[in-house]
Amino acid sequence: MEINGKTRLLGLLGDPVQHTLSPLIHNTLSDILGINEVYVPFHTHKEGLADAVKGAFELNILGMNATVPHKNEIMASLVDIDEGAAAIGAVNTLVRTANGYKGYNTDMMGLSRELESYGVELDSKRVIILGAGGAARAVAYMCMNKGADKVYILNRTIEKAQTIAEDMNGHFGRETMTAMRLGDYGQLLQENVDDKFVVFQSTSIGLAPNNEAVVIDNPHFYDRVSVGIDLIYNPFETKFMKLCRQAGALAYNGLRMLLYQGIIAYELWNDISISEDVADIVYDRLLQSIRE
Ligand code: NDP
Repeated sequence: MEINGKTRLLGLLGDPVQHTLSPLIHNTLSDILGINEVYVPFHTHKEGLADAVKGAFELNILGMNATVPHKNEIMASLVDIDEGAAAIGAVNTLVRTANGYKGYNTDMMGLSRELESYGVELDSKRVIILGAGGAARAVAYMCMNKGADKVYILNRTIEKAQTIAEDMNGHFGRETMTAMRLGDYGQLLQENVDDKFVVFQSTSIGLAPNNEAVVIDNPHFYDRVSVGIDLIYNPFETKFMKLCRQAGALAYNGLRMLLYQGIIAYELWNDISISEDVADIVYDRLLQSIRE
């Protein structure tokens, strides 16, 4: 695509930004769809974040993503915040409005679309979330929003799991979520219930190059898993996924979450809907890039 007077700019605010796959997603989309937009990473320090958002608006930038460590702090610079993003407490997508940017959390929406693409239902299901960092908050909101019957959130630092459970139970007005220490997962195996768990692996354990690391290595745990979703996508098959599969469970990685958070952001920026055929082309490019 030739850059000319009609080219619109999209970008990413983060620190660091060197390893991001977002330019690949968005520039591929512009290319395939013939939309005259360019997506650029902007290495932005937290001290300059508010000025960066203001400057982006003045420069007529159509939309932005925010990544680590700006997903919370950027909320103070927005004119409006989507309900889900506000409840999660994190924004990763800024959509231009008449007066400034509106914030969304397309990580949560992307994970939701990944589950739909695999036919994984959460309605009335028993769910375990491993981890209570930034990504786990989005997972927790999605599980509550999709009507899970019981959600156990397990974390090494129990206080972080407790805060998420309190926030989500308060927001949704029901006591669906329970916080536990990671080491206490054995209590869940003793429950005399036939239904297996849908498990989200949202810790950073198992991320390359620590491919053989896993948050729980007890095979009895995996006997109680029906579907395991690891948010990690590098390696493509994590140890957590291998243990799920060895126990006969389905297992998926987080690459489609990454894909769809980008697709949904692009849909919001351009007010369009992107077909699965186009999404599949972008997915293949992502796959190629993480395998290089
Ligand atoms: P955070 O740093 O916010 O959270 C890390 C989590 O991992 C915490 O719960 C932390 O526990 C836990 N953890 C880390 N090391 C250990 C350990 N040795 N033992 C026990 N627990 C540990 O990260 P994020 O929430 O942002 O990301 C989590 C993962 O999700 C990452 O691997 C990231 O790559 C992936 N991700 C994938 C996305 C996608 O699009 N597919 C999007 C976002 C994230 P504690 O609180 O006790 O420190």
